[in-house]
Amino acid sequence: MTVEVIVLPGEGIGPEVIAEAVKVLEWFQKHRDVHFFIRCEPYGVDAYEKYGTLIKEDVFSDLLSADAVLFGATGGPAFDALPDEAKISGNLLAIRKHMAVYANLRPVQAYDALSDVTSLKAEVVGNVDLVVVRELNGGIYFGEPRGRDITAAGIERGTNTLVYTAPEIERIARVAFNLARERRGHLHSVDKSNVLETYKLWREVVTHLGETEFPDVLLHHIIVDNCAMQIIKNPKQFDVILADNMVGDILSDLAGAITGSLGMLPSVSLSNFDENGHRCALYEPVHGSAPDIADQGIANPLAAIMCVGLMFEHSFQLSKETELLTKAIEKVLVAGFRTPDIQAGSLGAISTKCMGDEVVQALTRLNHG
Ligand code: NAD
Repeated sequence: MTVEVIVLPGEGIGPEVIAEAVKVLEWFQKHRDVHFFIRCEPYGVDAYEKYGTLIKEDVFSDLLSADAVLFGATGGPAFDALPDEAKISGNLLAIRKHMAVYANLRPVQAYDALSDVTSLKAEVVGNVDLVVVRELNGGIYFGEPRGRDITAAGIERGTNTLVYTAPEIERIARVAFNLARERRGHLHSVDKSNVLETYKLWREVVTHLGETEFPDVLLHHIIVDNCAMQIIKNPKQFDVILADNMVGDILSDLAGAITGSLGMLPSVSLSNFDENGHRCALYEPVHGSAPDIADQGIANPLAAIMCVGLMFEHSFQLSKETELLTKAIEKVLVAGFRTPDIQAGSLGAISTKCMGDEVVQALTRLNHG
């Protein structure tokens, strides 16, 4: 099969980690029976310098028909320095909305080989395997009214709005329930229903959906502050965590502490299927552009590489290829190859590029073995 993957590297460490993910895609192209048309396009500051926009118009429209989109990262000083009006059209939030990718799945898996790297005890993080399902097209990141103004009393004010409709809650909850059903059958729905009306509705809608369509899934409601504490105290209790846009954003970064680094967290964002059986899929590492380490060749590319594994699984039904890639990453970690963010003890650190090369070599060895 031949499928189109649009690649948008972005800024900061985005291009560095995406180069290694593309290397892995190319390995599969060469060694397995899968054929990708990999279309790399400038995004963000890079595109602005060439075309005066964050993303070319034709690329923006083609995101809807692509079989998958692989995105690096955006943000940082060069992005911040762009004119304000240039930062709106085609920014990452606009891309997510345009592609209608409302379901953001963020798997968090503890690797035994990294048990010496996390700041949590090995027995606490060992065997953790959870997924944060984050609503991505609504909530406070998009709610209106928003903005800044000066009150009648001359005081500066900032406003954002946390708004969800019942159908928006129901569609993301359905994704989370289905995932829990395929996994270990536990769903934790996160809210702050003790204080906020939006979350009261959230809880009611999730409860009703659970009772009517998913009685086989064990639903737990959990208040966000307690959830944050429980993720650190006892992460093994979680299977699927359902959260709104901002809470899901924060809790998944927090869950990064379990893996040892933000550089170990991939994600996929999915739309619904259309009448032709096509759906939009956006793959991006959870981390940002990490300006503090950009251009030094030391960023961990494994989150970006794991996005390729998620792509095989969710967009191309290539579960054997996902398995192979997961095994290759495990082998590399067990062999002690580490970028600085996951370095421990006396093991020397390797570069972003070397990590990509090691994964490719492990793939080759496993493929022949
Ligand atoms: P960040 O995720 O970029 O970095 C947080 C910390 O984690 C930094 O110390 C960084 O060095 C480290 N880190 C992140 N990814 C790493 C990797 N692959 N390897 C090694 N270390 C890694 O978050 P931030 O510093 O809060 O934000 C920086 C910029 O990124 C901001 O402009 C922010 O808006 C943007 N951002 C973009 C996205 C995205 O593109 N999806 C997500 C989050 C933040």
